[in-house]
Formats: sequence, structure tokens, C-alpha cells
Amino acid sequence: MITTAIFPSRYVQGADALDALGEELARLGNTALLVEDPFVYETLHRRLSAVLQAQASLSCKAEVFGGECCDEEIDRLLAVARREKADVIVGIGGGKSLDTAKAVAAALGVRVAIVPTLASTDAPCSALAVIYSAHGEFKRYLVTPRNPDLVLVDTQIVANAPVRFLVSGMGDAMATWFEAEDCRVRGAGNMTARPGPMSAYGLARLCYDTLLEYGQLARTACELHVVTPALERVVEANTLLSGLGFESGGLAAAHAIHNGLTALEQTHAYWHGEKVAFGTLAMLMLTDREPALIATVYDFCESIGLPTTLAQIGLDSIGDADLMRAAEQACAPGETIHNEPRAVTPAMVLAALRCADAEGRRRRTLR
Ligand SMILES: [Zn+2]
Repeated sequence: MITTAIFPSRYVQGADALDALGEELARLGNTALLVEDPFVYETLHRRLSAVLQAQASLSCKAEVFGGECCDEEIDRLLAVARREKADVIVGIGGGKSLDTAKAVAAALGVRVAIVPTLASTDAPCSALAVIYSAHGEFKRYLVTPRNPDLVLVDTQIVANAPVRFLVSGMGDAMATWFEAEDCRVRGAGNMTARPGPMSAYGLARLCYDTLLEYGQLARTACELHVVTPALERVVEANTLLSGLGFESGGLAAAHAIHNGLTALEQTHAYWHGEKVAFGTLAMLMLTDREPALIATVYDFCESIGLPTTLAQIGLDSIGDADLMRAAEQACAPGETIHNEPRAVTPAMVLAALRCADAEGRRRRTLR
């Protein structure tokens, strides 16, 4: 059997890591095109310029990201990158600006650096980009041939963001080990379509253990907008471990159920990691996990403020017919739910969603 794992080339994290961006980029090229989220342009652009100007070998051009990771925006930035003869593309901000930088760099065959300002998803370290239409509808996945050459996370910037981002990132990261573990048992493929090596499964487990141990403390630090060792651990779990875990371990029911939930309009105001968290609770019911383990995961979600009921992701009073649409979408051909060791049907997913919700509500009445 051939196994495969894929990683970013270099991962840099810490308070004020942004100060190291110039020297890190100088390893990768001479001419950088920065794709800055509007928020980044407003709050960090001057600091970024100062840091990068201090690097004599590097010349930089900054563009404000247009707001959507779509073909039109990718083409616009491609034209700028060609004109400037950029040999490294730097995405700075939230997920869509990062994905756009990945897509532009892949089209040009140049290096890419990713500077997330949030720890809210497992996407930064991956080779994957999600392309939308100009109006924000999902269009396609783009699997770039290489993972980012650099991922740099300034934990002070992450700590400055509203705590809901960090908590949502923990929801995304909480799914990682359960999904990787089921892929391991099944011998299912990861994002490369081959099974992962033991390292990927080991890192996925470290991700889960880190969340349980430090999640609450990290949340507290983030509420105070300070960086502590616990926050550092959880940012690493959300960004590096969760990224390696999903990409090289593999996805299964939790993300498929998330994808199904996105079919319901009412869930659109809730974030990726929040829906993945509820998808994970349903996955635990679906896959017959031990009651003590299920209780541990509910305790964790309740302690940091992740949703444990359908109402908390906008689905209060949802009928079975509508919820069945989500369950059917979760079981669509090609979905990662089919990486589960045992065959799954929409009826089983519907039952799991109902039970996960009922357990969440039962526990709330006891509190
Ligand atoms: Zn995810």
C-alpha cells in the first residue's frame, strides 16, 4: 500500500511573528505581490510596509483583495503579478484572500506565502482553495500542486480578533481526529486519494488532546486579547495540526454533514467550524462512539461555546423533510461520509442529527 502526506514547507508562529515576514519572504523570492484583506490594509498595512522595506533584497507591491475568491479576482491579480514580475504571492487576511493567493501563485507557478489573521479554520496550511462565483456561490475546489511555501501566524493578531473566530476554529479542529481515525480504520484515502501515514493520524490525535486540555484557557486569553502559551497551543492545533490532520489523515462524516447543513439557508449565518462542530456531534452518534467519549465532547463544546443543538445553528423547529435534504446532501456520491468504516444512509444521518440535538437540549435543561 502506498501512503502519502503533504505539508507546508515552513510554519512560523508566535506573538509579533509578522516582524519576521520580511526575512521569511526573502528566502522565497525578490518581488512579492501582497494580497491584503481590506481589514488588513486598514489596520496593518503601515506596519507591513515598514517590516518589508527593512528587507533590502525584497521589493513589494500591495493590492487590496476584492472580497471574493472568484475567477475574475484571480485574473485581475494575475495581471498585476505578471506586470510586476512577482515571484512570490503573499495572502494576508481571512480564508478567501488566502485561497486567492494560492490560486494566483499556482497559475503562475511561483511561490506562495500565507499569513492568516484568524485561527478560524484548517485551511491555511493546505494545498486546497475554494473558488466561488463573483456572487459568492460555491463553484469548484482547486487542488494546487504544492502546499504553501510559508505559513506565518502572528498570534497577537489572532488574539486581537473576536473570540468567536478562535472558538469556531476549535470546532473545525475538533472534527480532525475523529475523521482521520475513521479513515485510518477504513484504509480510506486522504486529500491525495491515498491513505495517510501514521504521522498524520498521530498529529490528528495531538490536535484533539490539545483542544481538550487547553481550549478553555485559550478562549479566556483570546477574550482578554492577550497571548499565552495555552493560546499558542490552540492556534497551532487549529491551524497546523488540524490542517495536516484533515489533508493527510482524511475527512469523513463530520465535514460531509457540514456540507449537508449548508444546503439549509437558515445555517448560512453560522460559520464553518460551528457547523462542523455540530456535524461532529452527529458523527459521534452515527458511528456508535462510547457514551463517555460523547459526554467529553459535549462538555468541551459547552465549555467553550460551540453549538450542541440545532437551534444554535439556526435550525430551531426544522421539520424532518428539510433536515432530510441536508442528510441526503451529506450522503451524496463522492462525499467524505463514504470514508466511514460502515455504510451510511441518509436515514441514519437524519437519526444522528436528531439524537445529537436531543442530547444537547437534554444537557442544557440539566445545567
Ligand atoms: Zn474544515
